[in-house]
Amino acid sequence: MAYAPSRPNAALPPLRVNLYSDTQTRPSAAMKDAMMRAEVGDEQNGDDPTINALCDRMAALCGKEAAMFLPTGTMCNQIAIATQCRPGDEMLAHEASHVTVNEGGGPGAIAGVVALGLRGARGLFDVDTMRAAFREKRRNAPPQTLLSVEQTANFGGGSVWPIGQLNAVLDAAHAWGMNTHMDGARLMNAVVASGIPAHEMAAGCDTVWLDFTKGLGAPLGAVLCGSTAFIDQAWRWKQRLGGSMRQGGICAAACLYALDHNVDRLAEDHANAAALARGLASIPGLSVETPETNLVFFDTAGTGMAAETLAGRVRQQGVMVSVMGPHRVRACTHLDVDRAGVDLAVGLIRDCLAK
Ligand SMILES: *Cc1c(COP(=O)(O)O)cnc(C)c1O
Repeated sequence: MAYAPSRPNAALPPLRVNLYSDTQTRPSAAMKDAMMRAEVGDEQNGDDPTINALCDRMAALCGKEAAMFLPTGTMCNQIAIATQCRPGDEMLAHEASHVTVNEGGGPGAIAGVVALGLRGARGLFDVDTMRAAFREKRRNAPPQTLLSVEQTANFGGGSVWPIGQLNAVLDAAHAWGMNTHMDGARLMNAVVASGIPAHEMAAGCDTVWLDFTKGLGAPLGAVLCGSTAFIDQAWRWKQRLGGSMRQGGICAAACLYALDHNVDRLAEDHANAAALARGLASIPGLSVETPETNLVFFDTAGTGMAAETLAGRVRQQGVMVSVMGPHRVRACTHLDVDRAGVDLAVGLIRDCLAK
């Protein structure tokens, strides 16, 4: 299968620099210690104090009334859609958004919702593009009930929605009668990069979630936030999908640890991504998108080498990157990659292309 995640392969040399994804981090000793000490209970009964503390903290951080702990970001997206839409409804999202292309057709399979893809550079779109997709409200048109925006836009290059553009789109969606959802898998990267607090960034969104397994270094967990009424209804879907847990506080403790220790340091990942981009841009033939956060996308077409070939060769040197298209490569910085690793990776990628 093309572009499938690589599997452990005994024939491959050990990894030296893992730029494959910011999901590849291992929980630190201190994070595991926090997990070991977590007070736990039965989440399905509302009795897990660590999960409750995490949800309270996330609701406050995002400026919403309530929150729900879930195992993955995908489940946050799917529950938000299923709760806010009815079968046959249409949701609007960027054509390259994670929910549209990377969740196995979940909106159709789970909620019975059709996703309409909007175009725009770097995973963003403007209010005119969205308005052009509004359908006259007729009996034979699908009701357009939800707009989803991704902050940061993953396949757009880790780009940050400028707050003015974001609010214009969210306001117009509300005026059209839609609810608004923010896929905030990397919301804190956007917050750290822009200096705009999460509650301000998500102010125009009815629902918003944050993933703890991206830059934040937790082994699992994501938190979905919204109104008290929304979270009440979302619990039925959490139960239905098997996302309702027991002593999940052992994982929520890792998320609380991440909020205390791993948010501000995302700035280091952004600086490392900028250094990585500068280094890659100095390699003849590579065309590098200027990163805004921790995701660096580059194009190998000018070198004559396919992305898959380059990824295979650098993996032989102990560097892992991900292939996003025939010539498109993604390299992510995260808390298990330091500046020395970035410099090493640039040198090895340069060598592989020189051969
Ligand atoms: C990773 C990601 C998701 C899904 O999160 P999981 O925790 O992997 O299920 C959703 N949206 C975006 C933008 C992502 O990057």
